[in-house]
Amino acid sequence: MKYLDEFRDPALAQGILGRIRHTATRPWAIMEVCGGQTHSLLRHGIEQELTGVVELLHGPGCPVCVTPAAQIDIACQLALRPGVILASFGDMLRVPGNRGSLLNAKGQGGRVRLVYSPLDAVELAKQNPTDEVVFFAVGFETTVPTTALAVLQADRLGLTNFCVLTAHVRVQPAMEAIASDPACRVNGFLAAGHVCTVAGFETYDEFTARYNMPVVVTGFEPVDLLEGIHECVRLLEAGSNVVVNQYERSVRSAGNETARQLIDRVYQIADRPWRGLGVIPRGGLVMRPEWSRFDATTRFGEFADCVGGEHDCRSGDVLSGRIRPPECAQFGIGCTPETPMGAPMVSSEGACAAYYRYARQPAGLESGTVAESRLGGL
Ligand code: SF4
Repeated sequence: MKYLDEFRDPALAQGILGRIRHTATRPWAIMEVCGGQTHSLLRHGIEQELTGVVELLHGPGCPVCVTPAAQIDIACQLALRPGVILASFGDMLRVPGNRGSLLNAKGQGGRVRLVYSPLDAVELAKQNPTDEVVFFAVGFETTVPTTALAVLQADRLGLTNFCVLTAHVRVQPAMEAIASDPACRVNGFLAAGHVCTVAGFETYDEFTARYNMPVVVTGFEPVDLLEGIHECVRLLEAGSNVVVNQYERSVRSAGNETARQLIDRVYQIADRPWRGLGVIPRGGLVMRPEWSRFDATTRFGEFADCVGGEHDCRSGDVLSGRIRPPECAQFGIGCTPETPMGAPMVSSEGACAAYYRYARQPAGLESGTVAESRLGGL
C-alpha cells in the first residue's frame, strides 16, 4: 500500500477489526504513546469499536501537554522583558502556566510572535537586530533536529541576538517511567512512528526485555493503528515480548542518522521535569556547554519562581494512562476547549481535547455504531 487512501480503507479496517476480535482472548491494555495516535483512534471510532476487546490507554506523547507549567512561566517572564521577542509555535499560546499563559502575557504587553519553524525565529532575529529573539522550543525527537539546525544557522550568520528556551523531551524514558510504576496496567505499547523515524527503535529491544512487554512501532492512519493493535494483541497472546515495526514505509531500525547527528551536535541528554509526571531520568535534552551562548537560561540567568495553578487538573493521571479524561471531575464542566484548565484540553494533540471533540457520545449508543459510521464513512 503506497497511498494515503489505502490506509483509510473502510473494508480493510473492518477486516482488521474482525481479526483483533478473533485473536484477543482477554481485554489486553495497550497504550498508544502519541497524542496524534490518540486523536486518530477517537476520530475514527476505533476506541469505541474495541470496547471490551482491547483497553486502549492514552500515553504522554503530546509535547505541548507535558511541557511543565514552570517552563511556561519562564517563557511568559521572557516575553514581558523589555527588548525581548518570544517566538513560539501557536499550540503553546493558550497552555496555562502557574500564572497564566503566553496569550495572557501578550495581553499584558509582552512581545509574543507566532512562528511555524525555529528557522522563522532566526529570521526574526535577523530582522530585529536591536531585540533579543528567544525561540520557545518544545517537542519530541521529531522537532529537535530543526531546533538544532536553527542554532547552527544562527551561529553561521553570526547572530548574537538569538537564543532558545529548550523544553525538548524524549519519549522512551517516559515509557520507562510508566512501565516501572508498580500501578502500571499497560500490557503492551504502540510506539510513536514519527519519533522512531528520527530516533529508530533499536533501543526498544532492551526495553521489551526489561519490562516484559511487546512494543509495536505504529503509524497514524486508521489501518496503521488497527494493524499495530492487532500485532500487539497477537504478540501478547503468544507471550512474545519483542519489537515489531508496523510503520515500515517510514521507519528504519537505526532511525535517521543525519537527524540524530544534528541533535547530538547541539544537545545532550539530561533529566527533565514533565508536566504531571515529575522529573523523568534522561527524559529530556539540554544544550551542550559549547552552545551555551544560544541557551536562554544561561543568557538571561535567574527567573522568578512561580507556584500554584492547575490544582484541580489531573493531567498527570491522564498522561500516564491512570484515568481517561472523562474520569476527571472537571471534564466538560469546568474544563472545555474554550475554558481549559490544563494543557491536555488546550493542545491539538491532547487526550482531553480528543475526548471532548470525538467521544462525548449520547448515552445508550450501541456498540459498533460509532466505528461503522466513521470507518464506513472515511
Ligand atoms: S479535563 Fe481538564 S482539568 Fe481534567 S485532566 Fe483534562 S485538562 Fe486537566
